[in-house]
Amino acid sequence: MSILPGNSKDICRIIGIFEDMKRMTILLVTVLVAACTKAPQLERRYEELPLGAIKPEGWLRETLIRQRDGITKNLDETYPQVVGPDNGWLGGDGDRWERGPYWVDGMLPLAYILDDDELKAKAQKWVDWTLENQREDGFIGPDKGYPYVEGLQRGMPLDWWPRIVMLKVLQQYYNATGEQRVLDCLGRYFRYQLETLPEKPLDTYTFWARYRAGDNLDVVLWYYNLTREPWLLELADLLHSQSFDFAGEFLRGEMLATKASIHCVNLAQGLKEPVVYWQYKRDPRLLEAVDKGLADIRRFNGFPSGMFGGDEALHGADPRQGSELCSAVELMYSYEQMLKITGDTRLADELERVAFNALPAQTSSDFRLHQYFQKPNQAQVTFGLHNFDVGQEGTGQVFGFLTAYPCCLTNQHQGWPKFTQNLWYRTGDGGLAAMVYSPCKVSTVCGGSAVTISERTAYPFEGTVELALSLDKPGRFPLELRVPGWARSVDITVNGSAVKAEGKIVRIEREWSDGDLVRVEFGMEVEATRWYENSVALERGPLVYALGLGEKWKKTVLSGSQREKFGDCYWEVFPTEPWNYGLLRKQVLGDISSVEVYVDSSKVGGEFPWTLSDAPIRLRVQGARIASWQLCGGDAGPLPWTPGGAPDVGDWPNYPLEPGETVDLVPYGCTKLRISEFPVL
Ligand SMILES: [Zn+2]
Repeated sequence: MSILPGNSKDICRIIGIFEDMKRMTILLVTVLVAACTKAPQLERRYEELPLGAIKPEGWLRETLIRQRDGITKNLDETYPQVVGPDNGWLGGDGDRWERGPYWVDGMLPLAYILDDDELKAKAQKWVDWTLENQREDGFIGPDKGYPYVEGLQRGMPLDWWPRIVMLKVLQQYYNATGEQRVLDCLGRYFRYQLETLPEKPLDTYTFWARYRAGDNLDVVLWYYNLTREPWLLELADLLHSQSFDFAGEFLRGEMLATKASIHCVNLAQGLKEPVVYWQYKRDPRLLEAVDKGLADIRRFNGFPSGMFGGDEALHGADPRQGSELCSAVELMYSYEQMLKITGDTRLADELERVAFNALPAQTSSDFRLHQYFQKPNQAQVTFGLHNFDVGQEGTGQVFGFLTAYPCCLTNQHQGWPKFTQNLWYRTGDGGLAAMVYSPCKVSTVCGGSAVTISERTAYPFEGTVELALSLDKPGRFPLELRVPGWARSVDITVNGSAVKAEGKIVRIEREWSDGDLVRVEFGMEVEATRWYENSVALERGPLVYALGLGEKWKKTVLSGSQREKFGDCYWEVFPTEPWNYGLLRKQVLGDISSVEVYVDSSKVGGEFPWTLSDAPIRLRVQGARIASWQLCGGDAGPLPWTPGGAPDVGDWPNYPLEPGETVDLVPYGCTKLRISEFPVL
C-alpha cells in the first residue's frame, strides 16, 4: 500500500511525557484522534540529508571550488546587468524573470556544501528579500512590470514560472537552516496558488510553467510531508491537472519520435512530473509512462553522453545536433528527484552518465566559458548556424561567457552542487544509502550514533569504493549500496569478510563500530553500444570514451550590438590532428575484450581529471581513417553508415580499408573536441 500510517513517533513521545498521569487513557484517545485527522505521510524511498552533511572530496571538491571561483561567486560583478542589485528579486527595477533565481538555485547549495560564508551571504540577500516582501495575499517575488530594455526580462511580472525556481531555492534554504519563516512563506504562497490557479492557470502568462509544473508539485508534496495539511493535496491535483500531460504523451509514443515536438529543456525538466505525482497517487501507469519516455528519448534522440538531440526543439539522434547545457543540469535534477522517490537504480545510472560525460565537457576547466550546445561528434567548434533549430545568430556552439541565450550562464550552477547533495540519502528506517558514487565525506546521526563515512575512491575512473566509518559509539543501522547496471561483478567486504551482494541495492544491516571498513569493487569492462547510423560508442563503467582531439583555440572579439548581446568575445576550437576515424569491426563487434585499458596511476585520484592532458584512463583500440568522411558546414560531416548485418543481407564492408592503426580514446568528459559515435569498418 502506498501510504504509511503517520505520526507514530509523535504519539509515543507525547505518551512518554504523560504516562504517569491518571487520565492517560483519555489523552491517548485524544492524540490518536488528532493523528487520524491529519492526512497521511507520503512514502518516499529515500530522503535528502541536510544541506552541508555531504562534503565533496578529491576531484569533486576541486570541481566545486573551480566552479565557485570561476563563475558562481562573482556573477553579480561579471553579469551585473541581470543578477546585480537592480534585479527585481532584490527589489530593483531590473530583470525579474528566471535568471536571478536560477543563479541562486545553484549558488545556495554550493555555499552550504563548501561552507563558504561569502557565498552564503550573497544567497541570503535573495532569500531574505523574497521572505520579507511576500505580499499580503501570499504572492512572492516582484509583481510590477517595466518596459522592455535590451538584455533584460522585465515584463511578465506575474508569470508562475520564475516562482517555481524560487520555490526550489527556499526548499534548499530550509534544508540548510530549518528556519520556520520559510515554511510560513511557502504555506501562504501555496494557499495563494490554490485560490488563484483556477482563474489564472499555469500557462496564463507564458507556457513555461505548464511544462515545468513538476518542480512546483515536488515542493508542494515535500511541504505536505512536513505539515500534512490535506488542502495541499488539492493543490497537488490542481497543479497536475494544469501540467503538460507528459504521462499521456510518453504512453502515446509519438512526441518523442517526432522532431521539433517539444523544447529540450522543457523535456529534461518536465519529464519528472508523472513520478513526482506518483508519490501521491501511486498509479503504476505514471511510472510506466516515464520508463517508456526515457527509453524513447534514448531510441529516437539519444546520445552516448546521456543527453539527447535538442537544439532547442527536439532534434533526433544525429551526433551533429546539439544538446543544451540547461538540459544537462535539468535532466540531472530530474533524475535526482525521481531517484529519491522510487529508489530505481537505473535513474542513478543515467544521472552518472550525464554528470561524468556531458557536464564536464560543456564548460571550460576554469568554468569561465561554456557552450550553449555541445555535440557528440564535435570535430570543430565554430561560429555558424550548424543546422540547429535555434541558431543563436551563429553563437550556439562556440565557447563564451554570454554567448547564445543567457539562460545557461545562470542555470548551470545547480549541476555539480546538487549532484554532490545526492551522493547519500537517509533510508526510511534511519540508515544511509549510497546511490551515486564520488569521493566525499558524509556526517549524520544513525542508530543513535554520530557517524562520519569517508568515501575514498577514484570513481568514476575506477570501480573501487572504500567506505571508512567513524562512530562516537557503536550503533545499529542499515547501509544501502547501489549496484550500477554496468557492473559485471560485485564484491563487497566488511572488515575483510565477504558480504552477499544480490540485487540492485545491497543492504547491510549490522552493529557498526568505529574503524569499520566497507570495500566495494564493481567490475568494469569495455562495452560497445549502438547509436545513430548503426555507429558504435565504447563505454567502461559510467564513462563513455571518445577520440579526444588536440585543441587550438581562436578568440574573436565582438563589438557593437553583438558585444552587448553576446559578451566581449567568443572562442572557436580547431583540431590539431585528424578526427575522421572509424573502429575495426573485428575488435569492437568481435573481440571487445582485446581493447587495452591504460590506467595512468599518477593521474588516477588527481586533483582535476577533466582535461585531455589529465585524463587518467585511456582505451587503446584498432581504428582506421575514412578518407571520404570530411568536414561539412564547419563540423564533422554526416556520420557514415555502418552496415547493419541484417540476417538476410549480411555484413558488407563499405569502405576501402585504409591501413589500420591504434587509436587512444579518453573519457568523453575530458574532451572539448571529440568523436564519440564511430562508424565501424
Ligand atoms: Zn540554457
